Amino acid sequence: MSAKHGPGANAMAILTDVTRCVGCEKCVMACERTWNTGDTIPSVHAAPDGLSGNRWTSIVKIKDRFVRKQCLHCVDPSCVAACPVHAFYKMENGAVIYKAGKCIGCRYCMIACPYSIPRYDWDEPKPFVQKCKMCYERLLEGQRPACTQACPYGATIFGTRTEMIAEAHKRLKARHNGVEAVSYIDKIWGLHEYGGTSVMYLSDVNLYELGFPTPGKVSAPYDSIPGHYSHPVALQTPFLAATVFGSLAGITWIINRRMAAAEQKQKEKDQDY
Ligand code: SF4
Ligand code: SF4
Ligand code: SF4
Repeated sequence: MSAKHGPGANAMAILTDVTRCVGCEKCVMACERTWNTGDTIPSVHAAPDGLSGNRWTSIVKIKDRFVRKQCLHCVDPSCVAACPVHAFYKMENGAVIYKAGKCIGCRYCMIACPYSIPRYDWDEPKPFVQKCKMCYERLLEGQRPACTQACPYGATIFGTRTEMIAEAHKRLKARHNGVEAVSYIDKIWGLHEYGGTSVMYLSDVNLYELGFPTPGKVSAPYDSIPGHYSHPVALQTPFLAATVFGSLAGITWIINRRMAAAEQKQKEKDQDY
């Protein structure tokens, strides 16, 4: 079931403590194995941050720290608000999921995401949007996200959002990450930014590179992306809008895409998102 605005009582979350990550990428490999993303051959379209249509989590280097990047599963996600056909959903358990069968390929979600997370299947003849889904199907079965289970260093852990916030406060107060004393920056990254996220961080280096709002810089407020085409974000993409909605070729393209989406839909394991 989709969630209303705000974190529900059952909302789950991931807490990544940057000070415990050694950059081994076991989490990245676990994601690939679990969802068979095809990451054994890295995409030529992979961005510098390592994310791509077939890599949903990556390790980036910020100063001397390894920082895991993935969808932050925002409490009030811009991708959900921006999608004109409701292909994105915020679920009660905190996961933000994507239903390929509904997508028309406008990629407004990619424009709207303040953390630059969703990627497109540029390598595929029938492309779709791709991103971490917080192992939604595993959560339904009572399992943890595969990446959090795989981490041998406890650098990325899983629980309710309330539990993760409490654990983060405990570490900040103790200035200790459970293994060693740490000079944390005194904040939980993701607690409030853009309405808050379900993937939060503790760190001793600034994480603005992940897309968190930088003091003194103008950022789009999380609620500034309503799901209609009159919004300035939509108006910045007149070419896309014209292509998708303004021409017969666009309509034909949409029909073809819907047929491709229908094929994809058949392959999706859980038809009840
Ligand atoms: S990080 Fe981006 S893709 Fe993920 S839920 Fe937030 S807005 Fe959506
Ligand atoms: S939560 Fe699941 S889908 Fe997301 S990065 Fe971890 S293993 Fe991949
Ligand atoms: S498995 Fe854990 S320690 Fe290794 S890169 Fe991932 S988060 Fe860091």
